[in-house]
Amino acid sequence: MTDNPLRALPAIDTLLHDAAALVERYGRPAVVTALRTTLDQTRAKLRAGEAVPADQAAILDAAAIRLARDFQPTLRSVINATGIILHTNLGRAPLSDAAQAAITQAAANYSTLEYDLDAGKRGSRLTHPERALQAVTGAEAALVVNNNASAVLLILSALAHGREVIISRGQLIEIGGGFRIPDVLAQSGAHLVEVGTTNKTRLADFERALTPAAALLLRAHASNFKQIGFVEAPPLDGLAKLAHKHGALLIDDVGSGALLDTAVYGLDHEPTVQESLAAGADLVAFSGDKLLGAPQAGIIVGKAALIDKLKRHPLARAMRADKLCLAGLIATLDHYRKGEAVTHIPVWRMIAAPLDKLVATAQAWANEIGGGAAAQVIVGESLVGGGSLPGATLPTVLLALDVPNATDFAAKLRAADPPVIARVADRRVLFDPRTVLPAQAPILTKVLYDLYNS
Ligand SMILES: *Cc1c(COP(=O)(O)O)cnc(C)c1O
Repeated sequence: MTDNPLRALPAIDTLLHDAAALVERYGRPAVVTALRTTLDQTRAKLRAGEAVPADQAAILDAAAIRLARDFQPTLRSVINATGIILHTNLGRAPLSDAAQAAITQAAANYSTLEYDLDAGKRGSRLTHPERALQAVTGAEAALVVNNNASAVLLILSALAHGREVIISRGQLIEIGGGFRIPDVLAQSGAHLVEVGTTNKTRLADFERALTPAAALLLRAHASNFKQIGFVEAPPLDGLAKLAHKHGALLIDDVGSGALLDTAVYGLDHEPTVQESLAAGADLVAFSGDKLLGAPQAGIIVGKAALIDKLKRHPLARAMRADKLCLAGLIATLDHYRKGEAVTHIPVWRMIAAPLDKLVATAQAWANEIGGGAAAQVIVGESLVGGGSLPGATLPTVLLALDVPNATDFAAKLRAADPPVIARVADRRVLFDPRTVLPAQAPILTKVLYDLYNS
């Protein structure tokens, strides 16, 4: 056989000669690897008798596709059209412009992270967020760690190791991702003392358990579920008084870290950090990236003597927040100090979005994509999500697209660049304008237009 296609395969050097654009983009080693792999696969297919294109242009194209795929990051920006504001799978809270700018500054430059400008010597990274947290919560002291799970673990390890922690059976919760209060307790070396029943726990239940072995009472907010009906839990101020009377502490894991009242927006009232402190909790722990609207962080505020103990525990070093987190957190807290949280922090802007504005946006999208009768604006519900306000919904409007196969269409949306995450219900694809960031709206309508009219 003189026309053996294997022999006609181009050589690497020849291919590289015409791959300048790829080399420029991905670097020579990666391009060489991609060309080799493509050639190997083509050779194997030819040997197996498959008729595959094997000329220079085809090999280069295949290598280009392979490189694009290999270099596509798996952690990508997406458009969240689900209407779930704190979407746990989509990165929870998007940050404000000021928080983004602060993170960029901290990333690009040297900083005073652990440097005291007045003294000209070593300082502590813990002082920066502490000032801002004192200002917004009124707490004596504050400490920031990686996330709220580590905050709770640190508190229990530093204050209850080898002693007892009393908690209501109604609060032995799993937060998600396998974070279970009893397991964290076990890790900390504290002993769990369960009191009350699943649905009812009274002060007297706690009082009976408050022996000298008890280090603290732990209240864990039921962030992701709701008990209704025949339920009872003691008020926080009652728990605080009781704990203090017996020489124990009251620790409140409030979860979502609301600093503003969610009830103003027609939602249930999510316990605020300030209320917990006012009720007498010695320490309050919460997440940075839930209702606070900041980067991922675990925030502990409360009594200075206790915060001091936490700061000196070895785990505090292992769990310390990085400079990017601190920069973004402080910039976010400043929005609260300036009274501009609702207009500047995306999470709160979404919660507070007026219905008429959402209607106008959904209507504009329907017109822009030219869907005619198949693109309708319907009423629906948004969720706060992310382990806060379980089951609480905000009335919204949705763009509902009638397409031949909604599941297929949703898959195509996920394959778009940037990917669009939408809801599918009643064989329609639903888009909630509430969670689509303003800068992303034109991109969303372009993706929709292209897909819908293709
Ligand atoms: C979300 C949550 C946590 C975990 O917080 P992360 O910041 O995700 O680690 C712990 N406790 C409660 C009550 C929560 O709602």
